[in-house]
Amino acid sequence: MNSKATYLLILLFATSFWGTAQEVDKCGHDLLLEQSLERDPATADRMAAIETFTQEWLANDNNLQARPREIITIPVVVHVLWNEFSEDISNLQIFSQIDILNEDFRMRNENVGDIPDDFKDLAADVGFEFCLATITPEGDITDGITRTQTEWPCIGDFNTTTEGGVPRLFYSILGGKDPWDSRRYLNIWVAPTCNAFLGFGFNPGQSGNLNEDGVVIDTDYFGNVCNDGRNHHLGRTTTHEIGHYFNLKHIWGTKGCDEEDDFVEDTPRQDNFHNGCPTHPSVTCGSPDMFMNFMDYTDDACISMFTIGQKNRMLAAINGPRSGLLNSNRCVFINRPRPDLGITVFPNPVTDCIHIEFNANFDNDVTVLLYDAAGQLLYEAINNASNIRSIPADGLATGVYFLHLTNGSTKVTERIMVR
Ligand SMILES: [Zn+2]
Repeated sequence: MNSKATYLLILLFATSFWGTAQEVDKCGHDLLLEQSLERDPATADRMAAIETFTQEWLANDNNLQARPREIITIPVVVHVLWNEFSEDISNLQIFSQIDILNEDFRMRNENVGDIPDDFKDLAADVGFEFCLATITPEGDITDGITRTQTEWPCIGDFNTTTEGGVPRLFYSILGGKDPWDSRRYLNIWVAPTCNAFLGFGFNPGQSGNLNEDGVVIDTDYFGNVCNDGRNHHLGRTTTHEIGHYFNLKHIWGTKGCDEEDDFVEDTPRQDNFHNGCPTHPSVTCGSPDMFMNFMDYTDDACISMFTIGQKNRMLAAINGPRSGLLNSNRCVFINRPRPDLGITVFPNPVTDCIHIEFNANFDNDVTVLLYDAAGQLLYEAINNASNIRSIPADGLATGVYFLHLTNGSTKVTERIMVR
């Protein structure tokens, strides 16, 4: 069977099982890639050149030597497309997704302890953090979120196109939303879909069109608040699709033990994807599968890791085809109240004092903890008298700090810059 027929079969398979919670090909990446290769003959050459760069970058020991690395901050813009009012998701749902990304890409996810012993040493802190952009392409202050009502109920499907085959999602004039400069922002479109796919992400070089690059997530699977994601309700579809965006393939590569693998040495050969929540060891191709990898299709609750090899491929991407995201300065720190979380931290960047103002959502007994970027606790206090607390910052070195505030039921982390 040729590859096109295989992909069509996958589509039929996925479509016929929609709604039955059976084997589901949850990610549209492979099918979209096939379409990209057909639509634009230059795609194969572009991606081959990027793979050559990637292999050369990885082969250079200077690039991968163990050394303290700066955390890389990825500026994100979330484009909410909605047809029904319920699809116009809350800021809180968007914040929850950003938090999940910052856990999964920093190996701070709660289920990291579930990684089996034989894979533990392979698990990696990718060192990427994500922030909603604070500056628009035009230089204005923003919350990093756009909202667009659309007349197209299935606009998140990549085959909701014009008659000429142009995907409507990526074009304001066609009922979708134009991206912000896709070289400097990670564009995430959150949109309703009618097919079986929960999302898709573009590999670097997959699109030759700056308007069509980024990540698309079905509204029901974005974040972990008020979503209807069933087995994929913890926001890890976005983690997976951003893996594609930074040049990862599915962990099984091409289906079949003797087919092309995922170009990552420390992920075991694997025959096919997993659904549900398998028991380790689940053996195919002669070795236990790493079904708990973010690049499998396992339920969100049962995926927990990227490997060192996958991290290195992502580092190659951010230093090559995705390097426009570095130093794009689209996430400068500004004082931004988060009224639905009940606190305001100001000024940010900090000069001589960090002020924290609490509104009515917090009671007075708030534990205030200040950590440096290495996780060392620098300051601890219980705020029990005032609705404002000030922490002297004149002894702090220039850099990034994290302020944790908790009153038992509510936890808030604010990132602070000291200059
Ligand atoms: Zn995928």
